[in-house]
Amino acid sequence: MHCYECNALYDRIACPVCGHVIESEKVRQPDGSYVERRTVRGALGWSTHLLLEMMRREWERADDGPAPMGQTSRKLVIVILFWTFFESLMDRFYHAALGDLDEAEAAKILRKFKFVGGQLDELHKSLWGVSFWEDLAALDYVPLAEQIRTIQERRNAFIHGDPEAIDDSLVARTMGILMDVQFAWIKLFNTRCTHKRRKIPIWHQVERAAKTR
Ligand SMILES: [Zn+2]
Repeated sequence: MHCYECNALYDRIACPVCGHVIESEKVRQPDGSYVERRTVRGALGWSTHLLLEMMRREWERADDGPAPMGQTSRKLVIVILFWTFFESLMDRFYHAALGDLDEAEAAKILRKFKFVGGQLDELHKSLWGVSFWEDLAALDYVPLAEQIRTIQERRNAFIHGDPEAIDDSLVARTMGILMDVQFAWIKLFNTRCTHKRRKIPIWHQVERAAKTR
């Protein structure tokens, strides 16, 4: 869930960052009685849900296609999807992180750091003095940070012409860290992106540039 008071993300009744409790409402049942319910939308955007759903479907799919070359995994698309998923999470993260600036100024910075590599290193450092990787490590996610870096390197190697960089073991490791990546990301988001002047929920849709319509 998303806390509209402080922009934190959480999964319980009271917000762990500011303590805000979502008000319940009385909902009428078909038999005329009333129940109290708290109805809130999920915190993630639809693109994120779709990517996770596609990864799950690919993971569960019967592995019966023709063997790709050498060590290349039949399910290599999971790693490609994961990286897009991760870039999309980080894109929302840095939008929210710049909530103290006015929109034009934030847009200018985000245009300068278009690629995730520059965001995780230079942009992160310019905002908080440490890289994204050091920030994750400080939250006790050292092995996780290493795993994400490995996926980034192997995915880049694949894109640059080394298909065997994505093998079955990397695919299995990618699926293995999927939940932890989300938990770690939420923890970091609540540390860095809450209590800003402008609260930018991560499901907030970025306006498409006119030329992409
Ligand atoms: Zn809150």
